[in-house]
Amino acid sequence: MEHSVLIIDDSQLARQKMLEGLEETGLFKHYHEAESVLEGFKVALNEPIDVVLCDLDMPGMDGFKFLSMIKTRTELQDIPVIMVTGRSDLETKIRGLERGASDYLTKPYDPGELVARVKVQLKIKTLQDSLKKSNQALLELSNTDPLTRLNNRRFLMKALEKELQRSERSQKPLALIMIDIDHFKSINDTYGHQQGDCVLQALADQMKTQLRDYDIAARFGGEEFALVLPETELAKALQVAERLREAATQVRCPDEGTEMALTISLGVAAFPMPKIRTIDDLIREADRALYLAKEKGRNRVETFEP
Ligand code: GH3
Ligand code: MG
Ligand code: MG
Repeated sequence: MEHSVLIIDDSQLARQKMLEGLEETGLFKHYHEAESVLEGFKVALNEPIDVVLCDLDMPGMDGFKFLSMIKTRTELQDIPVIMVTGRSDLETKIRGLERGASDYLTKPYDPGELVARVKVQLKIKTLQDSLKKSNQALLELSNTDPLTRLNNRRFLMKALEKELQRSERSQKPLALIMIDIDHFKSINDTYGHQQGDCVLQALADQMKTQLRDYDIAARFGGEEFALVLPETELAKALQVAERLREAATQVRCPDEGTEMALTISLGVAAFPMPKIRTIDDLIREADRALYLAKEKGRNRVETFEP
């Protein structure tokens, strides 16, 4: 672990003393110093900081100001700040803690106590960071289809809701393409379930390469996929769908040889259209179009003209 500490104090001597006390511990890899609140805030914005030691009385902005400044930034608000100050009155201590200081130390302090208190804050910060990381990983997991690594249906529904709201606000269109592999059952039957899985993965990988950064691809169900295309009108979405249809015929899995002919059917719907007001409408219309594509012989793109 490469921890870093930031020391903010207008007195060079005071900074030096803290620095030396901490350097002996080997707790930190990086030591940053600042002689004013503003300078310290800039460092915190540009460097990953794990613990801040901050003087209270400084010319210009004081330590309280530093506390309120870092609370305004989400990326900084969990950094523990230990106030180190010559003021020992209870009122100032309470005020500091109430404004978000994690701990309080009065000068002259005992060097051993400073180290001990820094250790406590560093430990809390480290635990908090790893908790945030696992929460993030869990969130990603709960939104991801394990086989294809695409978004899952759960995520798609949330994203569609958001995109529809955005589209209503910005008066920009929103398209949905529903995709279903043709005769997938017979691919499974002919080549085996494992090869079927491989086809799903290969098709998903290919789709990812065809989309823009802000398009959302999801595995909707077994061999069904959905693509959300923000700021895309129906005509454009039909072009995208046609491109995907053609590309899918090139998808191969190593053991299947060249004779396997993969095709997909696609149904396209867009917002705004007369009958489409909600995401359920959008999905229903794209689904109906997909059904039509199957009916008309598969390996094709269909939509319902408004
Ligand atoms: P259609 O052209 O009408 O879509 O025919 P189809 O055979 O593709 O459709 P059907 O719904 O009859 O069959 C879908 C098959 O997809 C059945 C199911 O076993 C298979 N399937 C669903 N999920 C998976 C999966 O994760 N892996 C594999 N290998 N097969 C799957
Ligand atoms: Mg199906
Ligand atoms: Mg199918």
